Amino acid sequence: MLSALPSSFQQALRDCLSPAQVTVEPDELQTYGRDWTRVHTPAPSAVAFPRSAEEVAAVLKLCAEHDVAVVPSGGRTGLAGGAVAKDGELVLSLERMRHLGEVDELGATVRVGAGAITEAVHHHCEAKGLTWPVDFASKGSSQVGGNIATNAGGVRVIRYGLTRQWVMGLQVALPTGELLELGGALEKDNTGTDLRQLFIGSEGIYGIVTAATLKLTRVRGATSVFLFGVDDLDGVLQVFRRARRGPFVIEAFEMFTQRCMDRLERHRGLTPPIEACSHYVLLEVEAPDEATRDEWLTALFEDGIVSDGTMGQDVSQAAALWQLREGISESLSATGLPHKNDVALPIARLEAFTQELERLFAEQYPGWEICLFGHIGDGNLHVNVMKPDDMPKDVFLDKTHEADRHIFELVQGHGGSISAEHGIGLLKKPWLHYTRSEAQIALMKRMKSMFDPKGILNPGKVLP
Ligand SMILES: Cc1cc2nc3c(=O)[nH]c(=O)nc-3n(C[C@H](O)[C@H](O)[C@H](O)COP(=O)(O)OP(=O)(O)OC[C@H]3O[C@@H](n4cnc5c(N)ncnc54)[C@H](O)[C@@H]3O)c2cc1C
Repeated sequence: MLSALPSSFQQALRDCLSPAQVTVEPDELQTYGRDWTRVHTPAPSAVAFPRSAEEVAAVLKLCAEHDVAVVPSGGRTGLAGGAVAKDGELVLSLERMRHLGEVDELGATVRVGAGAITEAVHHHCEAKGLTWPVDFASKGSSQVGGNIATNAGGVRVIRYGLTRQWVMGLQVALPTGELLELGGALEKDNTGTDLRQLFIGSEGIYGIVTAATLKLTRVRGATSVFLFGVDDLDGVLQVFRRARRGPFVIEAFEMFTQRCMDRLERHRGLTPPIEACSHYVLLEVEAPDEATRDEWLTALFEDGIVSDGTMGQDVSQAAALWQLREGISESLSATGLPHKNDVALPIARLEAFTQELERLFAEQYPGWEICLFGHIGDGNLHVNVMKPDDMPKDVFLDKTHEADRHIFELVQGHGGSISAEHGIGLLKKPWLHYTRSEAQIALMKRMKSMFDPKGILNPGKVLP
């Protein structure tokens, strides 16, 4: 048992956790050694399931004392390989730390364990008319600790911002065995550096989040969901301009192309609700009164900005429109082999960027299909490049490396980021310097040595 780990460590771990809290079953090693990416072969030595923050801290201290590498593992929905254990590491799963505390209705906060499932937090708080507005397709599996470690974005960023804006307090375990309480229920606390923010988005390389006090907001009121068809990305941006000045609050502004719709049709066998168009916009807005909304819609059609459109007439129709957007990732994977990229651009550069991207692929990678979709309202594009059917998988994977370099050169040229919301993990590590300067990377490395001098926490991730 635990054969790849030093025997002194195995004994110490047995003293620290019960037998039911450690597994070396091959199936479980496979399951817990990977995230949503399928690029690396999982090969952890064991998986530990602590039940309390004190146990996490004790295991981390043991790992540091015995030079054992440890990979923090949440819901394993990450798309950057951050939770992958491929080199005999100990996986530390937070899934048994799912405590959901009482909702503080006056302060609008809730304290939860790091292993709490994102959607479970939503359900827990809804009863009090409150919600944690971190929302995306994987919310049924992702965990609060993973959301915080990746500073997750999602479909509501345009309205509420990123995860970091919705975390009031953090409890973090360090390799020294210390447990830090950073912030809590205080809205205001200007007492020096906000250490909490250093851990948010750090992908488990500085410490392990064991619990968090989440900031809540009221559950949204009635919303309207629209799907519009437009001729090109300029049309998408024109709808966006109009929506920004519209008589409502934008809840979500998403975009996808006909190529994504084609694959949705193939995979889900659905009939598109509007005429085929080059680009589609999914818009959700809060609380428009009917007359003002209709006036806004009429102008959109009369001015020729959209060529077709529909509105969800009730909750199930609205959900069906959302299913189009949220079913894209699954449909691309079910109908081919996508190579995924998640980039951010200043909104004003989106059109020029996508035109240059299409030109680049037409010239240098003919036959490669680009499926574009994303949270366009905040400048976030998911660039999915599909393997041509007649190209062997290994040739495609080799070539995607070269293609990534071309894509990131373009992103850099337009002042964008190589990772909008998925993080760096293993997959984006070679490209970090396209967005971060040498000085910034050096500073991050110094911080890493300060928090984790032996380099046992998620080694090989994020930092080149
Ligand atoms: C279909 C689909 C749709 C998605 N849509 C979005 C989207 O719209 N926006 C978005 O931002 N992301 C999206 N994602 C990516 C993913 O769901 C998020 O990154 C999510 O926040 C990861 O949470 P997790 O619990 O699954 O983390 P994991 O994948 O388990 O881990 C992610 C990283 O965090 C570290 N980690 C996990 N738990 C802890 C902890 N307690 N302490 C310290 N480090 C920890 C891991 O080591 C790893 O580096 C999507 C994924 C899928 C599969």
